[in-house]
Amino acid sequence: MSKYIFVTGGVVSSVGKGITVASIGTILKSRQVTVSVQKLDPYLNVDPGTMSPYQHGEVFVTQDGAETDLDLGNYERFIDINLSAESNVTSGQIYRSVIDKERRGDFLGGTIQVVPHVTGEIKERFRKLAQKSQAEAVIIEVGGTVGDIEGQPFLEAIRQMRNDVGRDNVLYIHVTFLPYLTSTQELKTKPTQHSVNELRRIGIQPDIIVCRSDYPISEGIRDKISLFCDVTREAVIPLPTVDTIYEVPLVLEEEGLGQLVVDKLGLKARSTDLSQWRELARRIKEPLEPVNIALVGKYVELQDAYFSVREALCHAALSHDRCLNLLWVHSEDLEKEGGEALLGTAQGIIVPGGFGVRGIEGMVKAASYARNNKIPYFGLCLGMHVMVIEFARHILKSTEPNSTEFCSDTTYPVIDLLPEQKKVKSKGATMRLGDYPCKLTPGSRAARAYGQSLIHERHRHRYEFNNEFRTRLEKAGMVYSGLSPDDKLVEICELASHPWMVSCQFHPEFNSRPSRPHPLFHDFVGAAMATLREGAQPSLPLSA
Ligand code: GLN
Repeated sequence: MSKYIFVTGGVVSSVGKGITVASIGTILKSRQVTVSVQKLDPYLNVDPGTMSPYQHGEVFVTQDGAETDLDLGNYERFIDINLSAESNVTSGQIYRSVIDKERRGDFLGGTIQVVPHVTGEIKERFRKLAQKSQAEAVIIEVGGTVGDIEGQPFLEAIRQMRNDVGRDNVLYIHVTFLPYLTSTQELKTKPTQHSVNELRRIGIQPDIIVCRSDYPISEGIRDKISLFCDVTREAVIPLPTVDTIYEVPLVLEEEGLGQLVVDKLGLKARSTDLSQWRELARRIKEPLEPVNIALVGKYVELQDAYFSVREALCHAALSHDRCLNLLWVHSEDLEKEGGEALLGTAQGIIVPGGFGVRGIEGMVKAASYARNNKIPYFGLCLGMHVMVIEFARHILKSTEPNSTEFCSDTTYPVIDLLPEQKKVKSKGATMRLGDYPCKLTPGSRAARAYGQSLIHERHRHRYEFNNEFRTRLEKAGMVYSGLSPDDKLVEICELASHPWMVSCQFHPEFNSRPSRPHPLFHDFVGAAMATLREGAQPSLPLSA
């Protein structure tokens, strides 16, 4: 039977609970304990797929096509596992399922209540994941902060689990924040005490408290939290702010969290090996030569909207012994007079995914700039649509070519709705989602980068390359380097006459791992490193 580790958050949100959960997974996996992870999101949306990136940040897509919280991306990258739809549960899903059952008459005339019906449905999701994954430890993160109205049923469900599966099989970890008062120069524990009180009020006594802080945590503070929150001293785990998120597993391990979890749950742990992580953290902190990549998007004010893209670039840069210098360029700024100056130092330009017409012309400008100046360009999903639009405008000598997403009556609809999307009315979970196969064209840049002939990548789109234009663009130098096995769908395209202008219909960023950078990202960054920009010097020794 799986053991359950429930992780709650206190005091404030955005203190890195997701990274902490991912790191707990890492340190358990390093002891050869098998783990799976689940994120509980208390909002009423069924999934984040319909939410604006400004509200939610990136939507992470699993292999099986679920649109999920970006924390799942961190779980996958840290623990190096592939998760599925069962790993993200929202209040919307829970209520929908309970109400569907009620309408079917499953409750036989009973009154449907939060306890036991809603909490029962939540617990069912815990068990389902445990059963499917067969993991020795299932880590469950409760989104939001203790005290939120909408989080109550989730907290009640995790409380009930202690009696359902037995005390020895359940562990509660509370992640809090210690604010620092500049006037008195001290860290304060009172908000942590209050949030633990709030947890106790509903019947949960945390076993372990992880304390996030921007300042070092003294032994005195640790003692105080131990005393007031009734946890042993070694179960107060300090987690000061670190230089890179990839250091968090190391800090938690150093503070004894791994051993504590294993002991408390009686898990069969084997020897610990975090050497790969130590090496990764060391290399990230090493002073490496930068590579300048411009990310041209319309949600750049909220960098979380491009979380996996940034991570994938970072992994690729590191694999080339470079550090990533990411230039965030708002596509609407490129639309302004002289906006191109923002790309002056970029050695590579990446245009990631997105929806809607706002900022599109700026992205087209970025693609045009990359093509004309022979700067490596990498388009992801929307970024591929942009590359195709730009190239078509160039060869057809017209500003007309467009996607029907942005201009429904364009004379050159080079990007158009997927045929199966034409009848789709509802917005939730109706895109072409998740893993699909793609065969690579021998000799193409993409095929060389992958070193494989058949790949599987994750998708999230409604629009595609319009096959009516295939021949015309091909004659002008576009190479279709990846196609669906039935040849119907262009999955990757590139320009023959350009050093590196490659775009894909899928989202390769979701498959990048710190120790295994994605082949296209790796190749793109390699090409960017070879590109000299304004004021840059070629690195020594100079070849003759
Ligand atoms: N808006 C485009 C589509 O729906 C691109 C989607 C994306 O970038 N994920 O096809």
